Amino acid sequence: MSERVIALVDQRHPSLPLPALPSGQDLSALPLDGLRRPLTDLRISVTDRCNFRCSYCMPKEVFDKDYAYLPHSQLLSFEEITRIAGVFVGQGVRKIRLTGGEPLLRKNIEILIEQLAALRTPDGQPLDLTLTTNGSLLARKAQSLKNAGLQRVTVSLDGLDDTVFRRMNDVDFPVADVLEGIAAAQAAGLGPIKVNMVVKRGTNEHEILPMARHFRGTGIVLRFIEYMDVGATNGWCMDEVLPSADVIRRLQTELPLVQLDPSAPGETAERWGYANAKGQHDPALGEVGVISSVTQAFCGDCNRARLSTEGRLYLCLFASQGYDLRQLLRDPAQTDTQLAATVHAIWRGRTDQYSRLRSLHGPDTASGPGRRVEMSYIGG
Ligand code: SAM
Ligand code: SF4
Ligand code: SF4
Repeated sequence: MSERVIALVDQRHPSLPLPALPSGQDLSALPLDGLRRPLTDLRISVTDRCNFRCSYCMPKEVFDKDYAYLPHSQLLSFEEITRIAGVFVGQGVRKIRLTGGEPLLRKNIEILIEQLAALRTPDGQPLDLTLTTNGSLLARKAQSLKNAGLQRVTVSLDGLDDTVFRRMNDVDFPVADVLEGIAAAQAAGLGPIKVNMVVKRGTNEHEILPMARHFRGTGIVLRFIEYMDVGATNGWCMDEVLPSADVIRRLQTELPLVQLDPSAPGETAERWGYANAKGQHDPALGEVGVISSVTQAFCGDCNRARLSTEGRLYLCLFASQGYDLRQLLRDPAQTDTQLAATVHAIWRGRTDQYSRLRSLHGPDTASGPGRRVEMSYIGG
């Protein structure tokens, strides 16, 4: 057994210095980062709070009643989020995902969705606007989210067995309520719906086949995610990672699959379609995905930026520091063009590729100021 070290520390670090902007910077071309990756995807964390305590994300021992969540004044307001999102859209972003913490806990989230849904790309197209949720409030909110302009949702669900699920969310939340939320999202037209299952060896691996059987043929795409070493509090160890190749092997024992082409560049999931008797993909049966962040790094195509709840820009899920954009948003002298120039310069300076380096040199176990921020803070 590997030794577990759970850090009982505040996760927020000093921000990185903002880049100096050369005068007359050319903003006409979209920025490519230091590894020639474009910026197309922005994940916005709207709260650092959650009503679940999944041990791989917000373990109870750390996120207890004394944990210092951000006070409301520190959060970006909806107007600030929409303004900075518009700036990112001008720099190439086409897809925005709201996340957290649990995004549906943010009061009046529908108002933010309405504002983001009104944004347009420079050539007049609406954005791909989506949200990741634990599903606990979805039955109640699906229709109002749809009415506000949300296009689709991704729901996290780690198993169908009620005992296993209650243990994994660690707040005794019943699986039936999440399934009701998924049904409500489907009825409201928030599709295509994706369901994300984090697979932890020894905890929920026996739920792989029941989950696949349940969602096959429903139009819902189930995706299996390798348990990752995000943050510094979940006590991650490699022994608990079940490689995606094993997930596919287990599925194939009962449900034949054929590999499909990626749907878009930078797509994190490898796609597998359910096969018919002739061994061809049967679209009526649908597909599953595997996200192999640990065993098969996909940094080469990573086009994602993350904005934390308090307006810090992180260039990698495994980063330890971010850039404080809130300071600029709250400076009355800052114009949108200056904000765009800052985002442009930050993206051009990006060279992050943590997962690739992990596969070459092993996980980074830095503590102190170099340790990684938590996923509940920057969003998944
Ligand atoms: N609360 C929402 C939810 O659970 O869907 C949104 C935020 S959550 C941080 C986003 C996604 O990150 C979820 O699908 C969750 O399962 C995943 N996640 C969290 N910690 C993880 C870890 N250590 N490894 C892999 N995925 C993780
Ligand atoms: Fe909450 Fe989502 Fe993290 Fe679970 S994975 S603790 S639901 S933020
Ligand atoms: Fe992107 Fe960082 Fe994940 Fe690599 S490790 S895919 S750079 S977020």
